[in-house]
Amino acid sequence: MSKQEKLQGVRGMNDILPADEPLWRRLEDTVADCMRSYGYRRIRTPIVEHTRLFVRGIGEVTDIVEKEMYSFTDALNGEELTLRPESTAGVVRAAIEHNMLYDGPKRLWYTGPMFRHEKPQKGRYRQFHQVGAEALGFAGPDADAEVILLCQRMWDDLGLTGVRLEINSLGQSDERRAHREALIAYFEANQQLLDEDAKRRLYSNPLRILDTKNKAMQSLVEAAPKLTEFLGAESLAHFERLKQLLLSQNVPFTVNPRLVRGLDYYNLTVFEWVADGLTICGGGRYDPLIEMLGGRAAPACGFALGIERVLELMRAAGELQDASSCDVYVVHQGDAAQLAALQAAERLRDAALDVVLHCGGGGFKAQFKRADASGAFLAVVLGDDEVAAGEATLKWLRGADGEVGAGRQARVPLSGLVESVIDAIANDE
Ligand code: ATP
Ligand code: MG
Repeated sequence: MSKQEKLQGVRGMNDILPADEPLWRRLEDTVADCMRSYGYRRIRTPIVEHTRLFVRGIGEVTDIVEKEMYSFTDALNGEELTLRPESTAGVVRAAIEHNMLYDGPKRLWYTGPMFRHEKPQKGRYRQFHQVGAEALGFAGPDADAEVILLCQRMWDDLGLTGVRLEINSLGQSDERRAHREALIAYFEANQQLLDEDAKRRLYSNPLRILDTKNKAMQSLVEAAPKLTEFLGAESLAHFERLKQLLLSQNVPFTVNPRLVRGLDYYNLTVFEWVADGLTICGGGRYDPLIEMLGGRAAPACGFALGIERVLELMRAAGELQDASSCDVYVVHQGDAAQLAALQAAERLRDAALDVVLHCGGGGFKAQFKRADASGAFLAVVLGDDEVAAGEATLKWLRGADGEVGAGRQARVPLSGLVESVIDAIANDE
């Protein structure tokens, strides 16, 4: 047979190897604990949804819908489908479909893979993972404060420092419209100061002019009308109350008037958590969305964090190395010993010990090599000798200081093996 080509994974879609498992586990456990402690319940929605859900739920003129979605036609029935690029749309769809809001608001959370066709680089992948929470049916700034406090607790519990909170208010759509008109009028009055980019965007997306990197336009942009000046009393009160609530809980923040989120449906509060110049988490209020997706109008807010970016911070903070190991490695040789070893391993597992049973035969020397590599504290050795005597040999693989090959060993009766092993482990501590 000719040698087969070596296959590779899809670019931007990563394997998560066992060495990273302790870090992932730490994050997932912490997140689940935090969510529970705030009364959020987990929801799992499908990875594939109808394309039109995202077009309607994210907005046609967004980066995601314009160029980042993995969309395809179902070859069997012609349906237009998309791998979810985010989860809010799916969660809201499910909440509507299952009438979840009929008896009051709901606190939901999710985690899982998301898919966006982006240029892969550090912290940006084509399959990546998010954790998110959605507070559906809550109108007040108390819910905004709650999801922000939830985030803060996650960072604290994960041992992350240096994650900064930025907040802003986008007001309501009529307020944004008034601001936009004022912006256009302002830039029109200063046509001669606009560069080509700005002229092109003047009517299509005047807000983007505010993000210009052109130094010559800096003072023009700084003096431009600000959205805050167009917010009505209600929007301002919502924002003020949120700030008070955050201050009352000593959550530091900065107001960033430039902070806008990519999606059309955001209103009032928007926020981002930033670390090392990278946004790890974004969220805010999206009161129009539930109705836009066909539900009875209900307000909502939430956030989504990027797991890979948070893990990167945990790594930088020196959180947890690969701690893979088991308690016991069972070494055996001979047919009778194999039976005894299988039996012993099962009994040790009954006692909640982590046991690796040697598979694949081989001499004792090779087996002990595997036992050492397993990180086990003890080896249980079963040869013909032991089995004939109704005994097992315990061999200490690591001393109390964690050193390999501590050299100690002892014969114990097979009938009391579980107790002997538990004793040996307990005496180590
Ligand atoms: P960015 O501006 O970095 O593209 P975004 O606004 O598209 O982010 P959101 O849709 O708000 O991101 O998603 C929330 C979080 O998910 C981000 O803050 C980030 O941590 C993470 N995230 C988004 N896209 C990716 C990606 N392609 N790879 C890894 N993480 C991502
Ligand atoms: Mg993006």
